[in-house]
Amino acid sequence: MTWRSRSLVVALAATAGLSPTGTAAAATTPQATSPAAPRTAPALPTLHAFSVVHGSGADARVKLTAAQLWQTTDGLGVTVQLRRRSGLTTGSKICVTFGGSAVQPPCFRKERSGWRLTIGHRVAGAVALVGRHGITTELPLSTLGLAPSQTVRWSVASAAHACKGGGALPCSDRIPSGTRTVTNRLWTPVATGCADAGARAFTGGPATRHEVAMTFDDGPSEYTAQIQAILRKAGIPATFFMIGRQIAGHEAQLRSEIADGDELADHSWSHVDLGGGGPLATTQLTDTNDAIRAATGFSPCLFRPPYGSVGSDLVARAGALGMSTVTWNVDPQDWARPGVEAIEQRILAQVKDGAIILDHDGGGDRSQTVAALPTVISELQARGYRFVTVSALLGKPVTYGLRAPR
Ligand SMILES: [Zn+2]
Repeated sequence: MTWRSRSLVVALAATAGLSPTGTAAAATTPQATSPAAPRTAPALPTLHAFSVVHGSGADARVKLTAAQLWQTTDGLGVTVQLRRRSGLTTGSKICVTFGGSAVQPPCFRKERSGWRLTIGHRVAGAVALVGRHGITTELPLSTLGLAPSQTVRWSVASAAHACKGGGALPCSDRIPSGTRTVTNRLWTPVATGCADAGARAFTGGPATRHEVAMTFDDGPSEYTAQIQAILRKAGIPATFFMIGRQIAGHEAQLRSEIADGDELADHSWSHVDLGGGGPLATTQLTDTNDAIRAATGFSPCLFRPPYGSVGSDLVARAGALGMSTVTWNVDPQDWARPGVEAIEQRILAQVKDGAIILDHDGGGDRSQTVAALPTVISELQARGYRFVTVSALLGKPVTYGLRAPR
């Protein structure tokens, strides 16, 4: 999947091999849904802090003193430090080149009113000042033509608009000097959980957006990977409500779903009726969350009660574990194997804005569900629906961390 969210706040300490996490937010990612969080100074792990102080003599008027590249869960930040009297006049540029990227390099451009970030001729982002002589910006990886986990080779060069002091002095300089580049391996963003929305119960999302969430219950099973392959081909996420005791042996499947942008959620440990609540419910939910977290590093944000059997104590217990309770508002009864066409038609007849569509990837022969899925997806896409995870549908912001390269 792509990582296109654009904003984050940094808060938590490292856990489970992950770096500090951030809360990502944007309308364009499957997971991220909240309004843009306030931007803070970069406190995410700095992948590289590369500093050069240029020499004397003929280089005395060079303009760049240091450059730093840092990674967020969805992009890269660049900070460039300038000499106190940089001599860079209006029209001058400082460009960051990423080797191997097909995208034009982003450039800080000096204008009368201050610095602008441009890619080609268009303004591509905001520039903030760092101290008295530094400038910084942050851009999504996709804007830079880069992908998570890849190796980047980068350098920074200035191009003065007008050379003061005559042609003998350098009009441009570069970090690092010469033709060298700095090499960094990017980290991998992974979802870690989501902000707690309290003890609440939902049957669907808001009808104000043309969005739907596909959900699959009772896995993981032998059918889960088939469903995932269909979702991946369509480029859409789904939410898997899983049974805790079935997770063992499917850990890699779960990690693959997280990597795809799918959401993992709790459907109890052994699919017992928990409608009455009580301590057993807490144990069933906790054990399942623990298994999901151990396999993936992700703490579920959602609980779906087996059989849709729910009461206020159960909702409160799920809420105490950081989960909203989610049922559905579109049910094709695929578990009863009514036939591929019946599954397709029931979903397409019931679907609406904010729909949470119930399907099953476990609990028996799910070949009809698998067979119905491509038609359902393509028809809903033709109707203009956007597929999102349930947390995205409900506006629960997902948190991310960065995993170091292996
Ligand atoms: Zn179930």
